[in-house]
Amino acid sequence: MKTTLRTYTVREMVDGFVYNELEGKGLFGLSGKLAIQPEYQRNYLYADGKRDVAVIDSLLKGYPLGLFYFNDVTKDKHEVLDGQQRITSVGRFITDKFAILDENGHRQIFSSLTADKKAKIMESELLVYHCNGTESEIKEWFKTINIAGIPLNEQELLNAIYSGPFVTLAKAEFSNSFNHRIQKWVDFVKGNVKRQDYLATALSWVAQSKGLETDQYMAAHRFDDNINELKIYFNTVIEWASGVFRSKPPEMQGLEWGRLYETYHKQSYNPSKVEETVERLYDDDYVRRRSGIFEYVLGGETDTRLLEVRVFDNATKKAVYEQQTDEAKSKGVSNCPYCAAGHDAGKNKIWAIKDMDADHVTAWSKGGTTDIKNCQMLCKPHNQAKGNK
Ligand SMILES: [Zn+2]
Repeated sequence: MKTTLRTYTVREMVDGFVYNELEGKGLFGLSGKLAIQPEYQRNYLYADGKRDVAVIDSLLKGYPLGLFYFNDVTKDKHEVLDGQQRITSVGRFITDKFAILDENGHRQIFSSLTADKKAKIMESELLVYHCNGTESEIKEWFKTINIAGIPLNEQELLNAIYSGPFVTLAKAEFSNSFNHRIQKWVDFVKGNVKRQDYLATALSWVAQSKGLETDQYMAAHRFDDNINELKIYFNTVIEWASGVFRSKPPEMQGLEWGRLYETYHKQSYNPSKVEETVERLYDDDYVRRRSGIFEYVLGGETDTRLLEVRVFDNATKKAVYEQQTDEAKSKGVSNCPYCAAGHDAGKNKIWAIKDMDADHVTAWSKGGTTDIKNCQMLCKPHNQAKGNK
């Protein structure tokens, strides 16, 4: 890959700047020769009244904006590899899309600035490395450079590496904050639409259902001209989960719904009964991990480990141990009631507290409470044999 260093003024850079409000993207610069946000780039994220303002303040103070990297597609066609957030901020400012505060605390848009300040911005110089290489060289490099500003996250990198029609269509569906279906998806998916978290989720679900990693799936579908499979699978999972669980508590967000769908969708559930059970478990103070409730219910209420049911505290264990052990010694039997009931050599064994575990006499799942009245100490082998409950 060949790189050449060049200097541009802001005036040159933002000549012909177009900002697309709908897609949240800066589109062109350098009199139309520069594509600011090629499809593999993330959306514009600096429009927060802080980072965009900081870019303009830097120019007014004469601070450098740092290096920019352009990919030379042809002699007269370039794409921004690094610097699109900064260029878009400048372009939006000079087209009066946002205001800064001047030294007297007054809001100023570009048009309302004094002539000398306008000139200062427009004549500021920007340092650009032009990179010339094959697509894979550019993308490999793009993946490894330490990009200034906001580092690319995993999915943004994958979008860059596997850019093409499939990623473009997938982003239009899953990375588009104007897509009204997000209001339904938000019950199940966690994260930020613009930072590709919905796309990442949709891809991971469909990939996992085929035993693939997300990057393998993206590589296989890179040049597809549709995203039917991705869309249908994602919607199937969402429809299934919404059908089984009528109420949508916040703990549902971000669970592995793809895996849950694969594991449980062939079983039938009565949504009213499911709703009652979920409500009961939400009200149960012993359930410490509410996000485990959904899989617990799907799995037929057997795996209590999912709920991290409250355990007996040390004071309770110690008190029960002492009482059980005193009683056992006076009767000459084991202090583990299961051992004492047996007929082998262990029936008289006095276990040390460290070799015993606290057990619910009546299982929590059958209404047993986690208090001293429902606590018994069992030797570890017997407690394990009694199993998970
Ligand atoms: Zn025992």
